[in-house]
Amino acid sequence: MIKCRCLAIAFFVALIAVSCSQDNSRLNFEKQGREVPSFNDDSAYHFVERQIAFGPRNPGSEGHQKAKQYFLEKLRSYAGQQSVYPQEFTAEGYDGDTLALTNIIAAFNTQSSDRIMLCAHWDTRPRADKASENIDKPILGADDGGSGVAILLELARLFEQHPPPIGVDIVLFDGEDYGKEDDLSKYFLGSRHWSNNPPVKGYSPRFGILLDMVGGQDAQFPKEGNSMLFAPALVNELWTIADEKGYNNLFPDEEGRTISDDHVIINKVLGIPTIDIIRHNLTQSGSQFAPYWHTHRDNMAIISKETLGGVGNVMAELIYNRINHSN
Ligand SMILES: [Zn+2]
Repeated sequence: MIKCRCLAIAFFVALIAVSCSQDNSRLNFEKQGREVPSFNDDSAYHFVERQIAFGPRNPGSEGHQKAKQYFLEKLRSYAGQQSVYPQEFTAEGYDGDTLALTNIIAAFNTQSSDRIMLCAHWDTRPRADKASENIDKPILGADDGGSGVAILLELARLFEQHPPPIGVDIVLFDGEDYGKEDDLSKYFLGSRHWSNNPPVKGYSPRFGILLDMVGGQDAQFPKEGNSMLFAPALVNELWTIADEKGYNNLFPDEEGRTISDDHVIINKVLGIPTIDIIRHNLTQSGSQFAPYWHTHRDNMAIISKETLGGVGNVMAELIYNRINHSN
């Protein structure tokens, strides 16, 4: 424990940002004329498969333990031993359970004080509220959990091969999807812990992007309401990139619903302008999310390489080629 903490301190000292003032230049975008490495959708798909092979990754499960080790190993291989930090903590579960949880943080281009943050949740749901049977059994969460992490792992692989022009921190949150329906107090456990205990004091990246349910077939990502409230310039830049690259079927230029997710916690607690790319339905009536959401059908069969590739390529263009450095 102590050893971990020292390592973390030594490592994160390098990241203490010359805290940029909270001005609009942090969300100022322009084409930079840089080469953008192409995002490999086969590799991203493989990263979903690897997670699914561990089984459900709900807190306390065998899959949770194995997936944690896998993420640490994989990210250390890309970011370097010293640049990956498991933030371990406990949270109160149901029925007197104490949950052992871990946020996993990997930093790239640690010399740069000018940083951005990318995140997703890595835990999966301990129950299948929306299923017609086996409601109390944990789900595989190929899309809900698996897809966001897979895209971040593929980006991490790219960052090793092609160092990004800005500092990038990847944060995998635990305990996002633990709560029972209508009990928001037990959702977002990892982002809550991370936001209230940022591993770097005064951590102040330009912005954050949360990926949630970003790998399903026939996915659509309308502009989520809270994201439009907190960082409309970032949303609009990403959706413009998507349009230019021919992904407007995935990223329709329409404002969608307002969704509670990890990004709301980060915005409220740390004031980091953070948006959520999240699959949801445009219509205000009927189901908010995909038909397989919170059921046992959220498995490999619904994962689409095209969706993973579309989101990944839009992210790569933003990170490598659109962040304005002239400020
Ligand atoms: Zn979920």
